[in-house]
Amino acid sequence: MDRGRRPRRTPGTAARRRGPRAALARAAVAFLAGPDRRRLRACHAPRCVRYFLQDHPRQEWCTPSCGNRARVARHHERHKKTA
Ligand SMILES: [Zn+2]
Repeated sequence: MDRGRRPRRTPGTAARRRGPRAALARAAVAFLAGPDRRRLRACHAPRCVRYFLQDHPRQEWCTPSCGNRARVARHHERHKKTA
């Protein structure tokens, strides 16, 4: 018998299944298995890498500022071609 040695903890023990990462993983699984998954969209704004829950059918951006940036970029592209 080992004297004074505690048993090694291995990944997957109960202690590792708690905590913030486990809570995040559980929330992600619950979200992806739930009804809100169909509303998940990628933001169309330039240089934005976020995803959002679409509240209405025409929503294309995660925030109003992303919408403004996308409109400015579109305007810039339009006027660059005509000039
Ligand atoms: Zn965005």
